[in-house]
Amino acid sequence: MTAILVINSGSSSFKYQLIDVDTETELAGGLVERIGEKLGRARHTNVAAGGERQDTNLTIRDHTVGFAAMIAGFAEHGPQLTEIDLVAVGHRVVQGGAIFTGPTVITDTVLAQITELSALAPLHNPAHVQGIEAGRLNFPYVPHVAVFDTSFHLTMPAPAYTYAIDTALAAKHGIRRYGFHGSSHKYVSEAAAEFLGRPLAELKTIVLHLGNGASACAVDGGKSIDTSMGLTPLQGLVMGTRSGDIDPAVLFHLHRKAGYSIDQLDELLNKKSGMLGLTGNGDMRDVEVAALAGDAIAQAALDVYYHRIRGYVGNYMAQLGGLDVIVFTAGVGENSGVIRERALEGLEGLGIQVDHDRNYAFSRGARVISTDASRVTVLVIPTNEELEIARESRAVI
Ligand code: AMP
Repeated sequence: MTAILVINSGSSSFKYQLIDVDTETELAGGLVERIGEKLGRARHTNVAAGGERQDTNLTIRDHTVGFAAMIAGFAEHGPQLTEIDLVAVGHRVVQGGAIFTGPTVITDTVLAQITELSALAPLHNPAHVQGIEAGRLNFPYVPHVAVFDTSFHLTMPAPAYTYAIDTALAAKHGIRRYGFHGSSHKYVSEAAAEFLGRPLAELKTIVLHLGNGASACAVDGGKSIDTSMGLTPLQGLVMGTRSGDIDPAVLFHLHRKAGYSIDQLDELLNKKSGMLGLTGNGDMRDVEVAALAGDAIAQAALDVYYHRIRGYVGNYMAQLGGLDVIVFTAGVGENSGVIRERALEGLEGLGIQVDHDRNYAFSRGARVISTDASRVTVLVIPTNEELEIARESRAVI
């Protein structure tokens, strides 16, 4: 059996999946968390054997020890890594700047470049580097591949990625729109074409990746031409704890009038805004339940959420010069019928008509939720970023 191990590393945890590259199925997966704390935890599931999730509590000093804990999970609960032909380890990397246009085999030079790009993604890239270093120590004989969230969006034309500020200053500091969730937008837009049995090259698609982080992407013939996240994953749609679009002058105002420091403003917009800021709860499930029960604050917050999505749909219809497909994906997009329906409400004049019954029919698979009369086909497609990372890793080894 030929497999790829996919690693998504954060600063104090990492997720992993072992994927069979021929059947494209998950063989095993898990989460190593609370790295560096007194008591950490390693969770492992032998998916291929239909196994239950196995939890082990232990002290995990650093990512290298975390990898050892993951390997112990495989040894104890299977599948046995010794019986698998592991052909690559694929690492998710959030920020690839304007350098990495696609998946890249990791060398010392590439690792140094990823480290350098930390200035543009201080919360993410240093954590990825820790994961890559630990991975190379524990799996020295297989190629390690970096798959960047930003690569898919490097096809954006200059007018879409340029901020209207001093050109020399922007160039000096790498300030431009990069966009994120690239693996998801790529996977889902390709899956949409396949599902509809239509050539990708002919389709104009808007992908709405609505999870805890959220972004919209305009995909023309398989290529990203615009996306809502920017220099960092803060811009764009309203998210669980992130504000999305905001007048930058709000920051000057809060600094001058309320004495907020740069770090406090960073924390305010990234961690205390979005649905959390609007309602006191950043979990969409809770906000949805509260709104359905008549909570006026939750309802008002959702109206802000819908308004922002609708704005991007209209914007991207114009940028694409037409529209064939809208796809909902990620935690909220895949699971919430109410949010899908309300977000696209009032767009019938633009040829977008969600079918109430299809939208609420329960299913875990890819499905159509628009009416037969709708000019734009609206789909729900479960994203699979790990599979996309495995596919892209395989393509370059
Ligand atoms: P993700 O980041 O893709 O894992 O998505 C996480 C988000 O999806 C969280 O805010 C969850 O509350 C939300 N979510 C999951 N299931 C539902 C649901 N049935 N209704 C609304 N939101 C949901």
